[in-house]
Amino acid sequence: MDHIFGPVNSRRLGRSLGIDLLSEKVCNLNCIYCEIGATTHLTCERAEYVPTAEIIGEIDRYFQDTERLREIDVVTVTASGEPTLHSGLGRILAHLKEKTGKPLAVLTNGTTLMDAQVRRELSPADVVIPSLDSAREQSFRKLDRPALCLDLGEIINGLVRFSHEYSGKLWLEILFSRGINDTDDDIHALQMVIDRMRVDRIQLNTVARPPLESFARPVSEERLLEIATLLQEYNPGIPVDMLARGALTKDTAATSVHAPAEQDIVDEILQMLKRRPCTAADINTIFHCGGSKKVEQYLAPLVQSGTLHIRTHGDKLYYLP
Ligand code: SF4
Repeated sequence: MDHIFGPVNSRRLGRSLGIDLLSEKVCNLNCIYCEIGATTHLTCERAEYVPTAEIIGEIDRYFQDTERLREIDVVTVTASGEPTLHSGLGRILAHLKEKTGKPLAVLTNGTTLMDAQVRRELSPADVVIPSLDSAREQSFRKLDRPALCLDLGEIINGLVRFSHEYSGKLWLEILFSRGINDTDDDIHALQMVIDRMRVDRIQLNTVARPPLESFARPVSEERLLEIATLLQEYNPGIPVDMLARGALTKDTAATSVHAPAEQDIVDEILQMLKRRPCTAADINTIFHCGGSKKVEQYLAPLVQSGTLHIRTHGDKLYYLP
């Protein structure tokens, strides 16, 4: 399966089946904290980067086993890059809705919502989780390193407009990196944008996994709590969640219902690591391999052959391609 992964047991969404709309890193940002590597195709152009029929065909084959519908609570559309750049997004969402009848979530970097067509295509989703890491030009450019075609003012206007047009749940995710977008001025600029939006939840994150750039550093837990308080005071009534207070391990905890054979497990682990670096403990929680040591044994040949690498972040070791 190239475009379907999971289901993973997401703390935010329940048992979530992931649909990845891209096969190379197509994005209009090149964030310093990106977990899936440098953007190889930096563009604002919407296109059918993967044939829509190929993705729909994979979805249909997956759900030929109708038992699989019982194993999931939600289908989450995401990408190795930015999913709204795929011009088949609307068709794929409509097909998923019809095929599964399950709630649909879409993760997006939130930079394409000035486009009325993107806003329309997102309408079948039940939850949209856009990001806005900074409302200040300097911090936005340093952290998210946008393509030249993007304008922060237009991005913010698109987000605000979408928030009022869209009738589903909107959860705004903000990732903070120490010394880049975590000053009081940054928080105040975000407060003012959120004040113009209809937001159901605010979700705070930091650099909790190995980032693309080593200078992308996490903010302290104390600062994240201060930021949460500042947002709650200025934007009362909007719940603020902390995604990066030891929660990420839980967020990736998943159920492997089919107890696949050993090689299948290794293949599934590789698919997951392409999208998110994980520790041996994370992998064990998801695939029930019999302990972190067992995971290390499975993966040792892949590390030796250079298929996988091990990287230290904080006090943990992460596996990544
Ligand atoms: S973090 Fe998301 S938006 Fe940023 S470069 Fe990576 S895929 Fe693109």
